[in-house]
Amino acid sequence: MDIAVIGSNMVDLITYIDRMPNAGETLEAPAFEIGCGGKGANQAVAAAKLGASVMMVTCVGDDVFADNTVRNLQQAGVDTRHVKKVTGVSSGVAPIFVDSASQNRILIVKGANDRLLPADIERAAPALQACRLMILQLEIPLETVYAAIDFARRQRIAVILNPAPASRELDIAYACQCDFFIPNETELEILTGMPVDSEENILRAGRTLLEKGLRNLIVTLGQRGALWLTGDRVEHVASLPVKAVDTSGAGDAFIGCFAHEYVRHGEVLQAMRQASAYAAYSVTGKGTQRSYPDASQFLDFIT
Ligand code: ATP
Repeated sequence: MDIAVIGSNMVDLITYIDRMPNAGETLEAPAFEIGCGGKGANQAVAAAKLGASVMMVTCVGDDVFADNTVRNLQQAGVDTRHVKKVTGVSSGVAPIFVDSASQNRILIVKGANDRLLPADIERAAPALQACRLMILQLEIPLETVYAAIDFARRQRIAVILNPAPASRELDIAYACQCDFFIPNETELEILTGMPVDSEENILRAGRTLLEKGLRNLIVTLGQRGALWLTGDRVEHVASLPVKAVDTSGAGDAFIGCFAHEYVRHGEVLQAMRQASAYAAYSVTGKGTQRSYPDASQFLDFIT
């Protein structure tokens, strides 16, 4: 295996809206779709669609969504041998509202994702040991994230930590043990408590994390691309100009592609450029995983 994703899966319940209803108001919405999502699953699927060998450690509930989630991961080529089914709990679901300006508002019901425990890392250890890169997010218990980072350090496996959704409880000492820390602007703002309303302020906030010992900070900036901070070095990678239809899952597309590229050649800037192009493609289509291109669609897009 190239990549292990230890994280969440969610069933996206996507409603396309003209505007959000006010309290007590009922509105008609133009369209509704069900999709497979969750930050962990999205990132695993993006990397697998590009051709990486990916395994996922995750939990599903004992409801109608569970088998569908496993099948969906398998169809994308993700190894699901370490997907755990938990009885008496729902699968994770994410009601998503996408407005006519393509902005999204997302609710998360973690369900079975909260049952992914440090013991599950130990159980998957023989398979995890063979991986070159581990990807983590914060839609599972923090203790499991910490156990995974400890495991990866012992095994000398590179780690990407995507601190999403942002939690001020995250122990930054663990983030400092990771090779890459990849928040978006909002997550950076929450984690540092500092404003991110200009590039100067983003750099200032980012530097406070580097001063704490972070090695590589990559901040995704939506249509403004992404910033990489390491030591005294700052690099900006522009996004590709595209007509955005639905930006949900763009950050996960970026991370999945970045991981795939990074395990292939280890060139950070090159991996960011590819990730930025891959994420740009993803915003041109509706949904999250559904909007991720496979390797040949992506090649057509960038050539
Ligand atoms: P999400 O939470 O929707 O998954 P995010 O907020 O975590 O996304 P963003 O920073 O919005 O992540 O976007 C991730 C990457 O996607 C950006 O760094 C950029 O490369 C690309 N991207 C996002 N929006 C656009 C856009 N409108 N046009 C082109 N590229 C975009």
